[in-house]
Amino acid sequence: MIVCKFGGSSLADAIQIEKVKTIVDADERRKIVIVSAPGKRSRDDEKVTDLLYRCARLADEGKPIDTVFTQIAARYTAILDGLAMESSFFLPILDEVRQAIEGGAGPHWAASRGEHLCARLVAHYFGWHFLETAGRIIIADDGTVDEATYDHLGDALDPAKRYIVPGFYGSNAQGRVQTFSRGGSDITGAIISRAGGAEVYENWTDVSGVYSVDPRLVDGAKVIARMTYREVRELAGVGAGVFHEEAIAPVIAASIPINVKNTNAPLDEGTWIVEKRDCNGHPLVGVSAKGGYSRLTIHKLMLLKSTGIRHALMTMMRVFGVRPVFSLFGIDSIVWFFESSQASEGVLQAMCARLKAEFALDSIEVESGHAVVGVVGAFINDNPSIVGTISTALEREKIAITFLNYGSSTTSTLIGVAESATQQAVVALYHVLFA
Ligand code: ASP
Repeated sequence: MIVCKFGGSSLADAIQIEKVKTIVDADERRKIVIVSAPGKRSRDDEKVTDLLYRCARLADEGKPIDTVFTQIAARYTAILDGLAMESSFFLPILDEVRQAIEGGAGPHWAASRGEHLCARLVAHYFGWHFLETAGRIIIADDGTVDEATYDHLGDALDPAKRYIVPGFYGSNAQGRVQTFSRGGSDITGAIISRAGGAEVYENWTDVSGVYSVDPRLVDGAKVIARMTYREVRELAGVGAGVFHEEAIAPVIAASIPINVKNTNAPLDEGTWIVEKRDCNGHPLVGVSAKGGYSRLTIHKLMLLKSTGIRHALMTMMRVFGVRPVFSLFGIDSIVWFFESSQASEGVLQAMCARLKAEFALDSIEVESGHAVVGVVGAFINDNPSIVGTISTALEREKIAITFLNYGSSTTSTLIGVAESATQQAVVALYHVLFA
């Protein structure tokens, strides 16, 4: 049995949904389909999910949602028309959604309706069963999936039936609808693949796989034919868009291969994501970068001698909403990188003052405008000269390295650069390492 997940651009309009049907009909092992909410039809279009978040915000401010909700309703009715479906079953559902959002259902519930409505529509069109994920997929506050989920889904899935499943949401421990982070339908697909015992998890999108570098930056960028779970996680962790980094955990547990494919070019082989691969002359798979980081630098004499101080510092930082993602430790210093969006200037000032006083720090500084470039490959540590190649290439471009993290992962090397130099750094590294 194959589980297929189709992303928002694959469901953006009736023509795309017809492509989905053709793909699914072409292989009878494709028995479960997870859908995203309709995405953008063109560059400056809006995703249904964004419109729904907007409605929830308006409702929260006590403002009317009609204008925005009309746009949402129009997306679905255009799809119904385009597929020549009668709309009488759907209009009352749309109306219930509008009323609930107006009544203060909140952002999680509102956003989840993009997938919910899409799945109900597609299930009707295909004549397949709709499988509700609220109450079955249980999401903890930190976004992780409760193990009970697999029993709930296992009990609900009948191998003789075909299902359309809404992506992106489940419920929290209190039974309220809760969404994953953005792009989270990939996670639903992975969960359903594990629960249903899929032989393959096909992840259908609008590009022919995972690229070794952002194709908008480099002409002729190549699709990676085969990569490991770890490689895709590390590449997604430094910004490569195609596959949600949290969607890997459920499939790793069951060793299910993932095939990332293109709805608009279904015959392309796409990228296979598997447990292990051979080097075959390709020690690396890709380079990517993520900006929007701030650097927090702490100095204190004998810092690493004081037991428990790191943990205590991080606990206090969490009170201010700051959770570091990368760390470097010196003899008398600690450097942490965190997402700048986590805290405003004012909150950071308050946090620094508090940390300095509480832990008698010699100094504490925060600086925004950092990016992290990741060079990823399962065989990266087989070739120690890579560090030299990286630093020479960046030096040639006059890009300063703010940190270099080699050896803490067997699958990647991370390089800190100024945010303003991100693209230049990625292109330079691509050319020396891959071209
Ligand atoms: N519709 C949600 C989003 O736009 C989830 C998804 O597409 O995977 O983020």
